[in-house]
Amino acid sequence: MDLVALPAFADNYIWMLHDGAQAVVVDPGDAAPVLAALDRLQLRLAAILVTHHHPDHVGGLAALRERLEGPVHGPAREVIAPPFEPRRGGERIEVLGHRFEVLDVPGHTAGHIAYVQCDAEQAPLLFCGDTLFCAGCGRLFEGTPAQMLASLDRLAALPPDTRICSAHEYTMSNLRFAAAVEPANEAIAAHAGRCRALREAGQPTLPSTIALEHRINPFLRCREPAVVAAALAQGADGADPVAVLAALREWKNRFQ
Ligand code: ZN
Ligand code: FE
Repeated sequence: MDLVALPAFADNYIWMLHDGAQAVVVDPGDAAPVLAALDRLQLRLAAILVTHHHPDHVGGLAALRERLEGPVHGPAREVIAPPFEPRRGGERIEVLGHRFEVLDVPGHTAGHIAYVQCDAEQAPLLFCGDTLFCAGCGRLFEGTPAQMLASLDRLAALPPDTRICSAHEYTMSNLRFAAAVEPANEAIAAHAGRCRALREAGQPTLPSTIALEHRINPFLRCREPAVVAAALAQGADGADPVAVLAALREWKNRFQ
């Protein structure tokens, strides 16, 4: 299956997976780029996956329904426009003949879910919405630092070659923050160089991989001594990973 990142709004990606005849899209905040891709590639829309209720992830649903030939799967614990198939962690769904596992990943929103294609003949695919970004994580709008830590730990335990399909192109600003947290981490500087070239060429920096995020993402590195020390210097309540994540997240919110 082919994976395509459809840019939307200022920095969203609507991920499309297709087999040359049928497509599934994830978090269509806007219908226009999806309809254009369906027409350009001559694909039918077989399913839609939604990770959370924010408008930049569901805004295109209404306009896509007349082209949609299958279900909308969405978070059971959030309100999105019906009809949709309510999904929760632990469920397995079949999309385009492939199995996807649903994971509960609360934190950015209270009922945020993610989808992992778990029977891939290629490297696994993770559609994680606004939970995990390259070198960053989502803001805590509805959840707690403890919930976000548990969700990120969950994703960090996926196979190292898992391809991470996040919903935003935040990589360069996230890497600037990651370098402020860990100035001596050479993997962060090296990846910033690669991503700068990709952005200059108009290319997405995603998907990332779980293996890479373990090396560069401060929010997956809350137990690393250098990250703990940086968080304590920013006023973290303690050295435990929840306090470290909370301090990193607040630091990132005010980081320019
Ligand atoms: Zn969001
Ligand atoms: Fe978003």
